Amino acid sequence: MTGDAYRFHERSGGCQCGAIRFHSKQLRDNAHVCHCRMCQKAAGNLFAALVGVRHEHLTWTRGTPAEFMSSDLAARGYCRDCGTPLYYRSVGGEHVSISIGAFDDPASIPLQFQLGMEGKHPSLDHLPEIEQVGTTEQAMPDEVAAIFKSNHQHPDRDTQRWPE
Ligand SMILES: [Zn+2]
Ligand SMILES: [Zn+2]
Repeated sequence: MTGDAYRFHERSGGCQCGAIRFHSKQLRDNAHVCHCRMCQKAAGNLFAALVGVRHEHLTWTRGTPAEFMSSDLAARGYCRDCGTPLYYRSVGGEHVSISIGAFDDPASIPLQFQLGMEGKHPSLDHLPEIEQVGTTEQAMPDEVAAIFKSNHQHPDRDTQRWPE
């Protein structure tokens, strides 16, 4: 990835079930990981990976996310049908911090910084040394075919209708 040209690509994304879809005209240059305890709980995971999209660059193209006010200062958006955490939003802020993993092509969004270091899970310092069992196909060879056949996850592209 050279420079920040990636920020100006139009992108889509959404929740796992496809009830919520969004489109962003461009990203802010603040892709990051937050390790803080509130982001851990909101993501149900070790950290939240987020990138800002200015309100005027963001369109909810299908459905409307539900929100939980994690404090008087911030809302956490999620899909009420499948539970995918979709964003962090500061009340009155100029952008919505969208979950990078919710984009259709998260690998195209490079991380630029991390914060909330007080909550960082100790194992993350050793991630490269932790045993790598392999790809999903290698790790779950017996289940992969059945999962693929009964997959209810929305595909990583916009759809006219869903379920198709
Ligand atoms: Zn959903
Ligand atoms: Zn946080």
